[in-house]
Amino acid sequence: MQSVEEKKAYDNVIVKTCYVTDVLYLMLHIIYLVLFLIAKVYVMVYINIGSIVIYMLFYFLIKNKKYYLYALGCGNEFLISMSVSTILVGFNAGFHLCIIGLCVVSFFTVYFSKQNRDVKNALTWCVLSALIYLGLLFYCNFNNPEYVLDKWLVITLSSIHSVAVFAFIAAYLMIFLKYAMQLEQRIINESRIDNLTQIHNRYDLYNYIESIEIKKDYVLSMFDIDDFKKINDVYGHLCGDYILKEVASIASTTLATSFVSRFGGEEFVIISRMNGNIENTFRDIDILRKKIEENTFVFDDNLIHITITIGVQQFEEEFDIEKWISSADNKLYSGKKAGKNRTII
Ligand code: GH3
Ligand code: MG
Ligand code: MG
Repeated sequence: MQSVEEKKAYDNVIVKTCYVTDVLYLMLHIIYLVLFLIAKVYVMVYINIGSIVIYMLFYFLIKNKKYYLYALGCGNEFLISMSVSTILVGFNAGFHLCIIGLCVVSFFTVYFSKQNRDVKNALTWCVLSALIYLGLLFYCNFNNPEYVLDKWLVITLSSIHSVAVFAFIAAYLMIFLKYAMQLEQRIINESRIDNLTQIHNRYDLYNYIESIEIKKDYVLSMFDIDDFKKINDVYGHLCGDYILKEVASIASTTLATSFVSRFGGEEFVIISRMNGNIENTFRDIDILRKKIEENTFVFDDNLIHITITIGVQQFEEEFDIEKWISSADNKLYSGKKAGKNRTII
């Protein structure tokens, strides 16, 4: 399912690309029109008037959000007008080059299409474009063009087409790359964040611990909400979720310089740098327990009070990650057994 933000980014790419390409194709045909008017090649003038009208009508397709139809229309207009132009004025004017760009556009269109997301569609367009390109190449080698253009016009047109095809491919690939990179970054971020509480998840916790070079400068605290099951039973699961989010937020703000993660369920793991000695560090972490104890959680007019139990474990030489966590968990467990709402070191 797409989030509102994802949908916005997606729509943004499609709408912008459609409008920009419509204006660019329109401008290209206006340039052709002017050039052929100057050169007095009237057949080409009429063809380009037709193309200009088509691109003006395409504007309404975009406005009515018929993006795929617009892309299909552009593809067909492109193939027909570039092929006819090549046959009429010859290969040297470089109209055929524009057909190469169609391959890139076809993959782009299929990627951003909602209804026709099939690689085969893009491949079909590519093969079709390649066949037409080859057909034009053979045709032009065995037939003279209907209209022999002046040298200045041939050079102007072939230059426009050479630059256009590079710019065209680069622009499409750039939009595509930017979108794919944004998407990739979002997926990476999401895979590290707990969906409910929006703090680091267990996977990211392991990554973080692995990345710490001098682990003996750190303590690992594991805390668990006391009698959380009762919260769910008495006030409902939604209230439980709300408490989890609030607790995550309080822990993150209270221990702002620490790494706060949701380990699973109503258990959290915090990695903190030692504050000089273990006593000071203990005091810092116990502030969190006191804050939670003093906080009033308000859900559906219910005033709720909860407590947490914390197990704090300094790193020891023989520890691996699992051992470090399970040692903190053992302390947490002994805190539960001793009556809950306490921090054990
Ligand atoms: P203790 O003081 O010994 O920790 O008791 P407890 O009731 O907190 O412990 P227990 O492990 O029995 O219950 C944990 C409960 O947390 C059970 C489970 O339904 C609930 N829980 C786990 N994840 C979520 C969640 O994402 N949302 C909600 N609302 N509840 C959750
Ligand atoms: Mg619990
Ligand atoms: Mg638990």
